[in-house]
Amino acid sequence: MADRPRFGPAGIPTAFQMAKVSVGDVPRFLHEEGLDALEYEAIYWGGKPQIGQEKAEKLGVNARENDVWLSMHGSYFINLCGDKKTVEASKKRLLACATAAEWMKAYVVVFHVGFYGRRPHELAFRNCLTVLKECVQTMKSLGIRSVRLGPETSGKPSQLGSLDEVLEICEAVEQTQLAVDWAHLHARDMGRFRTVDDFREVMEKVERRLGTEAARNMHCHFTKIEFTEKGERRHHTLDEPRYGPDFAMLAKVIADFKLRPVVISESPLLDLDAIKMRNILKSML
Ligand SMILES: [Zn+2]
Repeated sequence: MADRPRFGPAGIPTAFQMAKVSVGDVPRFLHEEGLDALEYEAIYWGGKPQIGQEKAEKLGVNARENDVWLSMHGSYFINLCGDKKTVEASKKRLLACATAAEWMKAYVVVFHVGFYGRRPHELAFRNCLTVLKECVQTMKSLGIRSVRLGPETSGKPSQLGSLDEVLEICEAVEQTQLAVDWAHLHARDMGRFRTVDDFREVMEKVERRLGTEAARNMHCHFTKIEFTEKGERRHHTLDEPRYGPDFAMLAKVIADFKLRPVVISESPLLDLDAIKMRNILKSML
């Protein structure tokens, strides 16, 4: 697992896009910025990988050469709590992501588990556990062994993915990786991160449930976030004082507990805020 805390953007930074940097060259440019992680966005994918195998493998090689850790954000069109047809299509989408992740040697496919819909939460949750176990079996039968599935804490109360649910999935399903989106937790729980202790509490819970190693090697998303009673509304940059949570508080916990998370910036200033977070943590170590 991670050798140190790592930072990087969710997807290709705007400046890179404007300079028409090809996907394969992104790791080199990130390395030049002093970043060491990248979350490849497969967010609009359907049932088949939308990157060729050769291109994906090349990206993987370039990432390793530039010491950039790859993860993947899976398709938004996944809902493991829907009706049978939705679930079958969602499984295909998740497997398409896992297949391409294996090509590029991304270590985790982060994804949103699904919506409760009209089902009682407990029932929706049980169903989705069963489906996820089936997905992992299929991944194994396809020889996908180095990629983990990363259920992400969700930003809306209508979406499955409370911290407890995500922890339970990680306890019950093999080949999973905890993915904590701190902004989502903040929005889902109406601004829960106000002090360093609020962050510490989450980390202690993770450690209790999944063990020290899992807590140390968390995969994270971080941005500031605007929310309403329905949950997340919009991501904001780190410099906007009106919004939380405050990365310096999480950085304090990372430093105190000697954590080595991969921290992905989902801010509108993808790489620039990743650099800012890295510097905040550096100043505490
Ligand atoms: Zn996400």
